[in-house]
Amino acid sequence: MKPDIVVFGSLNVDFVVRTSRRPAAGETVLGTSFQVHPGGKGANQAVAAAKAGRGKVALVGKVGNDPFSATLLDSLSKAGVCLDLMERTSDAPTGTACITVDDHGENSIIVVPGANALCSRKDVDAARPLLREAKILLVQLEIPFDTVVYAVQVAREMGVTIILDPAPARPLPAELLSTVDIITPNEHEASVLTGREVVDIQSARVAAADLTSRGARCAVVKLGARGVVLSQNNTLDHIPGFEVPATDTTAAGDAFAGGLAAALVEGRSLGEACFFANAVAALSVTKPGAQSSMPCREEVEEFIFKGG
Ligand code: ADP
Repeated sequence: MKPDIVVFGSLNVDFVVRTSRRPAAGETVLGTSFQVHPGGKGANQAVAAAKAGRGKVALVGKVGNDPFSATLLDSLSKAGVCLDLMERTSDAPTGTACITVDDHGENSIIVVPGANALCSRKDVDAARPLLREAKILLVQLEIPFDTVVYAVQVAREMGVTIILDPAPARPLPAELLSTVDIITPNEHEASVLTGREVVDIQSARVAAADLTSRGARCAVVKLGARGVVLSQNNTLDHIPGFEVPATDTTAAGDAFAGGLAAALVEGRSLGEACFFANAVAALSVTKPGAQSSMPCREEVEEFIFKGG
């Protein structure tokens, strides 16, 4: 298979608890439901791109040799994601994420990386033939940082467009920042990256401009329901989000990243791709779960056609 988009990243089983209010330290609250969903930023973004787009998507990553891995691989293949370079390892369990969602749809997440922590430079080298054919590499920070840096370096050598979703948040070396084409932090990640609090459109504009002035070719700062601020070619744009009833914002950022890659691979401009990705992400927050909440192309087109 010749993929258009290669996603290099994590797969996790999500254990999702719903509760009216998330507990404070030392507190116990009663939850209202418990569900198990396939997740992980890499897998979520691959599913989002495969469902919302027309391009071919491959995921490179690792799962454990345990029953959870089947749930994950099954969800990916149902979405049409190529798994030729997925590996099952006996050296670590499948990654897990414990997610608490409150009545406002806000979430708190603890990730235990497991097999994701074993993704190495060797796996990047094994993916070279796929990368050589690809137009876009999509990476996040749930696999070892050194592996991400190496994947970005290899993709750069091959002239592949690099989208970095810098989550979970951490400061990034200038060299990495100046190697990526598009960086897509949310408000918290943008605050960590720039050292300035990002809380609204105005502060997002400052952060986006800061990220491009520090070397990223384009920066897209995500602002939840308010959409995104885009910085490119010394220009700043606010691309508003769509108004929807939010049920569960888990993986909204992943839906956005997948939608962005899917639209770019079809030749849309970055502004148009952000608009499309806002629609994909808005639809995803109207449904519970991560991968199960990713909309298909027809849903996205109908939603956009109706004006959101
Ligand atoms: P993350 O999920 O990475 O924390 P955000 O919360 O900023 O990122 O959400 C990512 C994108 O998802 C937003 O830019 C927007 O397009 C969409 N989105 C998130 N929450 C909502 C919402 N309540 N209503 C509509 N769109 C939303």
